[in-house]
Amino acid sequence: MLIQNSRYLMQYSDCIVSFHSIIVILEFYQNDFILTDLKHYYLQQMGIDIWVERDKPRRSNTDALAELSRKVAGCTRCNLHCGRTQTVFARGNSLARLMVIGEAPGFHEDKQGLPFVGKAGGLLNNMLQSIGLTESDVYIANVIKCRPPENRDPTEEEVALCSEYLGQQIQLIQPSLILALGRFAGQFLLKSNLAMNQMRSKDHAYESTPCIVTYHPAYLLRKPSDKKKAFDDLLRVQKALCLSS
Ligand code: SF4
Repeated sequence: MLIQNSRYLMQYSDCIVSFHSIIVILEFYQNDFILTDLKHYYLQQMGIDIWVERDKPRRSNTDALAELSRKVAGCTRCNLHCGRTQTVFARGNSLARLMVIGEAPGFHEDKQGLPFVGKAGGLLNNMLQSIGLTESDVYIANVIKCRPPENRDPTEEEVALCSEYLGQQIQLIQPSLILALGRFAGQFLLKSNLAMNQMRSKDHAYESTPCIVTYHPAYLLRKPSDKKKAFDDLLRVQKALCLSS
């Protein structure tokens, strides 16, 4: 339409206006849209191929994450470093649109150095599969990187000292959506004291990233009757990511 209008202008204008003059006028008024159309039209007429810039690929975050992981591995900021076998940084795809965040490593995670392994990890994998996702579609991390003794809740001081690492991970991953697993992760990300039932029924945001809260798989292993509610939450994740059911 714009091209047709431009041709019309060229044909029926009282003045004979050259192509170059039109470009100069459009540049003056900074009308990039018409300008681009016109340039493409005349380049086509001249038999010159048009190159269109592709969507820019997301910048690789691999090196920055590897460096952060090394920093975490040597961290002694809080006393949790005394009892750890190793730090637990993350698993999954660092370019994933969905970032899954739990609380802290447990026994199996501490031994293997990976978050959400063992029975709870198996259930998480099944939960993700129920909405068509695999490990390659998600990036999984915890708020705390070292295992608290006897799997106790991390203290406020430990959270304050460790959560900076998670913040940096989120910045590097730039997920489209965060799924918080469990009361602790939900309250930390939302900076609230809401109960799980209040958090999981609403859409939230961590800074500017949309965030959904659901039950921790370890809790669901203890209380399978809440799996239906967790599945409802996962359907919201599926919808938010525009995944086909
Ligand atoms: S829990 Fe976090 S802050 Fe504490 S030692 Fe481990 S990595 Fe460092």
